[in-house]
Amino acid sequence: MRLLSVYSVKIGLLLLSWFATEIAAEEYFIADKHAFKEIASDLEAGDKVILKNGIWTDFEILLKGQGTKEAPISLVAETKGQVILSGQSNLRLAGKYLVVSGLVFKDGYTPSSAVIEFRRNKSEMAFHSRVTEVVIDNYSNPDKQESDYWVALYGQHNRFDHNHLVGKRNKGVTVAVRLNNKDSQQNHHKIDHNYFGYRPTFGSNGGETLRIGTSHYSLTDSFTLVENNYFEQTNGEVEIISVKSGKNTLRGNVFYEAQGTLTMRHGNGNIIEENIFLGNGVAHTGGIRVINKDHVIRNNYLEGLTGYRFGSGFTVMNGVPNSAINRYHQVENATVENNTFINVQHIQLAAGSDAERSAVPIKSVMNNNLIFNENKKQPFTAFDDVSGIKFSGNIANSAVLPELAYGVKQEKISLKKQSNGLLVPTSESLNVGAKRDLKVLAKDDTGVSWYPKIPAVIPFDSGSTRAVDASSKALLAAISSAASGDILVLAPGQYDIPKLIKIDKVLTLRAKQQGKSKLTYERSALFEINDGGSLKLDGLTISGESSPDSAGNSVVRAQKWGMVENYRFVMTNSTLVDLDINHSYHFFVTGKGAFADEITFINNTFSKVTGDIVRLDSEIEDLGIYNAEYVTLKGNRFENVEGGVVKLYRGGTDESTFGPHLLMTDNTLSNVGLGKRNKSKSSLYLHGVQVTDIEKNVVTNSAPITVEHTVGEPKTAIVGNTFDKTDVPSIKELRVKGPHTALLKNNTVKNSGAK
Ligand code: CA
Repeated sequence: MRLLSVYSVKIGLLLLSWFATEIAAEEYFIADKHAFKEIASDLEAGDKVILKNGIWTDFEILLKGQGTKEAPISLVAETKGQVILSGQSNLRLAGKYLVVSGLVFKDGYTPSSAVIEFRRNKSEMAFHSRVTEVVIDNYSNPDKQESDYWVALYGQHNRFDHNHLVGKRNKGVTVAVRLNNKDSQQNHHKIDHNYFGYRPTFGSNGGETLRIGTSHYSLTDSFTLVENNYFEQTNGEVEIISVKSGKNTLRGNVFYEAQGTLTMRHGNGNIIEENIFLGNGVAHTGGIRVINKDHVIRNNYLEGLTGYRFGSGFTVMNGVPNSAINRYHQVENATVENNTFINVQHIQLAAGSDAERSAVPIKSVMNNNLIFNENKKQPFTAFDDVSGIKFSGNIANSAVLPELAYGVKQEKISLKKQSNGLLVPTSESLNVGAKRDLKVLAKDDTGVSWYPKIPAVIPFDSGSTRAVDASSKALLAAISSAASGDILVLAPGQYDIPKLIKIDKVLTLRAKQQGKSKLTYERSALFEINDGGSLKLDGLTISGESSPDSAGNSVVRAQKWGMVENYRFVMTNSTLVDLDINHSYHFFVTGKGAFADEITFINNTFSKVTGDIVRLDSEIEDLGIYNAEYVTLKGNRFENVEGGVVKLYRGGTDESTFGPHLLMTDNTLSNVGLGKRNKSKSSLYLHGVQVTDIEKNVVTNSAPITVEHTVGEPKTAIVGNTFDKTDVPSIKELRVKGPHTALLKNNTVKNSGAK
């Protein structure tokens, strides 16, 4: 075919002196998939393939050939950033000295197990090859539970650098180094200068950003260098990086407001140095977690980290005696020196100690570390005998645990901020903590310059304000033309909505005068949140009076199935009435597998509801796939609700997630949960919730609160509530023996038992 190559030029390459002849390197300008196929099977050293600018759909690229160090085979974009691979596209490399650059993967997802794979198949790997300046943006399988990698490194001596990866929403590690064949071990890969942008909370295990190895090959050395990468809000799960092999170096990386930790999950002899963790006090920001032997952790700087337990700023785990390869090996010969811990809330030693994990850390040292907490609260917790970690030369600004005091000197410390943004002791003679001239990697020095590193989440009320006349037509038109972040201000009056309103952007609907804008609707739900959507309602009155006369209506629901993007729902100062057309009329219903970052109710009134207020319990399989990270109820009134206020269910036994969290304060519940269809027989039903705070609520003539603890050492506090004609909360440990661990304090119980 004529379009095989629009032009091809011969370039004489000057080669090493021992190679006497010239070789002919071709340059192919490729305009379509067919043209690529024509040339792809006989690429030779020095050949260059240029992909024409534009959108390529369903393009599965195999770059294969034997390049040389001096004359690699390359595949480039005509213009960096203007070759878009969409639909079901992917890239495989096989052979040696291959280089790919300048491509963007977006608007689709890989049809295979990885977007970019350094192999053709099980027997043909890539060696000495490089992928650089490539973007993968939200190229997520639309079935969130369908697992894939974005990048899978196989072979040896490959480099993945200056790439931009953001918005992985489906299950599976973002970048995986595989060691599952001989040709992929002792690989000496280099992963550097990449920008790892926002990865939303996944809501179950499988949301790691980088994994090196697997437990099966964890006693094999990998020799992977992970250097100068920027991890910004990589929040997928408790492990941001999961090291599962030996002899890797992780150096000079920045973790910015990233929830989770760099975990040495399996494998020995890894070096973790000169990394910077900046949590800014964000919930669940963590640092480094140590398991196994011979690790060196030095010159790291950790500041403003709030995480606890396995997500702490620093954790040394207990192991399992004679551990199976996939459990916890004992910590031995760990060197932890010259690290700075500033406002790191938790340093946990012998963490995870229990009947199984009983092997305490041994032959380890913690030397010359700086520990500073502005609030003077010492950060250490010892869960077992920690005498196997010898402390010396450490300095802290507060008294630490008595058993560590011999090696942690308490001193008055003042700090100053250096030009690199890091805090160091004002006194130059105080020579502890990370080195003062630690290099702080700039975000702009990672990824590519031609693709913006923009915030991933559009906040509510960040757009423009638009007035809406009091008619359903005006409201529907305003919703359809609004941009994400906009605020629609509803004029006083009644809005009779004839159809389901699908929300696929970030929107606020606000009554111009609180309580004066009334919405009725004729479908089984008023709002449905779809991918890309988040909804905030403020000051509205919503009535179910015109709903269909059938069971199972709702006011708001998340897309019934197949939702892949996290969403937010907030309602404030609103009044809900007549949610009693037929039975099981719920206010809010999650879709199967849908995940909310936030569901918040403040100062609302609900009266006469025949179902539940919030149903976040779509999981029946107990795989630990739950529906919301933060559920907050503050200052609401719930009256005559036949179902429960919240049903929040997190099944399974996995410990990879932080949530769900439930915060419920200052609410009034009256005649809640006593309907005969309320199977849980509870006014509030929580199963497997990790953090629960129920404070200062007044519960009258209602079904009891039920809390079921499963795994993860959940934290539950029920404090200062009044239970009038209401049974006391029922708290059960379903997985752990012994009494329940909830804190119940200062609750008033009177006239016990609802009628
Ligand atoms: Ca994990």
